[in-house]
Amino acid sequence: MIPYAKQHIEKRDLAAVAAALRSNWLTQGPQGLAFEKALADYCGAKYAVAVSSGTAALHLAYLAAGLGAGDGIITSPNTFVATANMVLAVGAKPVFGDIRLDTYNLDEKKIENLITKKTKAIVPVHFAGQPAALPAIAAIAKKYNLLVIEDACHALGARLGKDKIGSCTYSDMAVFSFHAVKSITTAEGGAVLTNNRKFYDKLKIMRSHGIHKDENGFNVMTEFGYNYRLTELQAALGIEQLKRLDKFIKLRRQIVKIYEHELGAVMGIILPKELPLNHSAWHLYVIRTMSKADRLPLYRHLLKSGVGVNFHYPAVYSQPYYKKLGFRNIACPRMDNYHRTAITLPLHLELTKKDIERVARAVKLYFKS
Ligand SMILES: *Cc1c(COP(=O)(O)O)cnc(C)c1O
Repeated sequence: MIPYAKQHIEKRDLAAVAAALRSNWLTQGPQGLAFEKALADYCGAKYAVAVSSGTAALHLAYLAAGLGAGDGIITSPNTFVATANMVLAVGAKPVFGDIRLDTYNLDEKKIENLITKKTKAIVPVHFAGQPAALPAIAAIAKKYNLLVIEDACHALGARLGKDKIGSCTYSDMAVFSFHAVKSITTAEGGAVLTNNRKFYDKLKIMRSHGIHKDENGFNVMTEFGYNYRLTELQAALGIEQLKRLDKFIKLRRQIVKIYEHELGAVMGIILPKELPLNHSAWHLYVIRTMSKADRLPLYRHLLKSGVGVNFHYPAVYSQPYYKKLGFRNIACPRMDNYHRTAITLPLHLELTKKDIERVARAVKLYFKS
């Protein structure tokens, strides 16, 4: 079976983790600080706070932004559930906007209609690694005095024009995940990037129980907090992986080129497209069937052919838990249409040309028979 995603670990990763394990620090040491500096430098942001997962990063970003009970947070339904779950965790309400059918990202033209007195923030998700319409979203946020927090978990290594995702040129904070399937991994891990000193200070304090050193050097707890720390072993791995991120993205883009070459002429499917200004990190390769009737049979055919296909994503509001909460009759017709036709093909660094050709052959065979 060719998996849809897989981590890529090399000898130097093993050496870095082993060295961290032998060092004086297993947590809260120099590797964590060096990883944060490397992340901030790579993205072109002032500050980075590394945490234990992308979910923890979202939670802390929402808390640092002061989001809470009664607030409405506009986001994309085409995302991993954590984006909206952490909105619920801080007591606020996710408000789902429809997506665009060229990028599968939140449609910036649908946002203004959703804004009410309760709206406090917009959380765009860079689906599959393709940057959302950040300049337009930032303009709306400015007009209505809203915060913008990017769920950039798919998009470390992506660019919008000259701006790296994570530079926070158009946002208040950007959130990354280093889960095993993401563009770099620390096994589990995440980070929040920001150019705002106040957010940065809050994030750091809340990551570690709300405790920090006062002016006399004593530990004091001034905020509510958690243990959302990343270990030194993970940070050491992250530093090694980050050094090769641009190489990783280049490889992903080469794989996408091969898919485009192999599948470009297949009638019955729609391939994902990159907008001219976007440099996608290609976290996922999602194709769509022209006909809804083909989606499940194609999915089953590919699985039977040894191709580890997947679905990204059912609309968050369609999950049983969200339905139970009352998220019904959400008017996102494009999202519903997208989700009934989307299939994720394998895309990871250990795919060989032969693997990709095997995937393509299996797709073509389905449409021939
Ligand atoms: C992976 C992911 C998350 C959660 O990250 P974890 O590190 O798994 O907690 C959140 N949002 C999106 C869009 C993701 O892909």
